[in-house]
Amino acid sequence: MITRRKLLKILSGLPFAGLIAGGLAGSGAAGAIEKLNKASNYRDFYKELGLRTFINAQGTWTYLTGSLMRPEVMDAINYASRQYVNFNELQDVVGRRLAEMGKSEDAMVTAGAASALTLGTAACITGTDEEKIRLLPNLPGPQREVIVQSSHRFAYDHAVRNTGIRLVEVESTQELENAVNENTVMMLFLNYANYNGQIQWEEFVELGKKHGIPTFNDCAADLPPVENLWKFNEMGFDLVTFSGGKGLRGPQSAGLLFGRKDLIEAAKLQHVPHADTIGRGMKVNKEEIIGMMVAVEEFLKQDHEKKHGEFHERVRLIGQHASQVPGVSTEIFVPDIGNHTPTLRVTWDQDKVDLTPQKVQEKLRNGHPSIEVLATSDFIRISMWMARAGEEKVVARRLQEVLKSGVV
Ligand SMILES: *Cc1c(COP(=O)(O)O)cnc(C)c1O
Repeated sequence: MITRRKLLKILSGLPFAGLIAGGLAGSGAAGAIEKLNKASNYRDFYKELGLRTFINAQGTWTYLTGSLMRPEVMDAINYASRQYVNFNELQDVVGRRLAEMGKSEDAMVTAGAASALTLGTAACITGTDEEKIRLLPNLPGPQREVIVQSSHRFAYDHAVRNTGIRLVEVESTQELENAVNENTVMMLFLNYANYNGQIQWEEFVELGKKHGIPTFNDCAADLPPVENLWKFNEMGFDLVTFSGGKGLRGPQSAGLLFGRKDLIEAAKLQHVPHADTIGRGMKVNKEEIIGMMVAVEEFLKQDHEKKHGEFHERVRLIGQHASQVPGVSTEIFVPDIGNHTPTLRVTWDQDKVDLTPQKVQEKLRNGHPSIEVLATSDFIRISMWMARAGEEKVVARRLQEVLKSGVV
């Protein structure tokens, strides 16, 4: 019997060949992708439901359903779904393995980085005190405080505020030190904002240690580079989180929380299977836990330099075709922190190509196959690390067509 994995392996060789044969101008490319989509023995659910599927040339966005799980992760999830284990034992054992890979004291699988932010903060507030865990987010007494640099405020800090804390914003080292008091429970750091604030990684960690306040670094979108998996644990942050469904390509409904042993123990008490807790609605089960472990293992095995090269080649090809249209310029850049992957910026002179970036986005979205790219008021942005091999040829052809259609 051909397993799904074998079938995917066999088929994974096909589309690229098909795309080359079809060339950029032909319909062969779209046909090959159609084949790739039909590579399962299952019902064609998306088609049946009338849902639009698309080439993801945008990146890891939750509204675009994040990433595609690695085949090894899917195998692990299927494996996990066939037998029972004790949840606590599973979380403990996998946590220890993850901690080894992330060079931290301990770790756990959460329902995403946002979930890790809530659980980690809750751990800093309550420790293992069962009464406090039960009462969160409405603890008696003064409101607990979390210190954050103003430039590190972000939408997901709602997940920290869920615990009932008040965020205290500071700018300078002096302001931070003045803000520490007996109600301070944690210091929050947003990894990709490191260079936006006056206090950077090492100093932040030192200040936390000096005042005996746990520090939490949100690195959700910051893999790759691979060394980030352990860099901030080794640096001394007491808690560090990563999304499972971004660069790791694990379950979109999972994430990693690394940290000090006592804090991870406390965080687990705020989570499933415990019912009267702030984290009970952030359920993960054996499938996510095993899937997350395998995603990290596979991520570590990956040849990161080679992958980077592949992703660069994909956007280079797209850029090369776009820049053949008069008035269009392209540039490849790699964000330093966060979505650290070759990214293409496409700009054009609207006197020569009479289309707004939104219009180009819309035309790509409404074409066949549908393609999702990011549009701002000034440019469109494309990254191909979440696309499947070969799809760059389709994007190159379609983007060129769309831009040409606007030439005045
Ligand atoms: C994506 C993201 C999150 C949320 O991650 P999930 O795994 O989707 O919960 C939190 N913080 C930052 C900085 C992010 O980029």
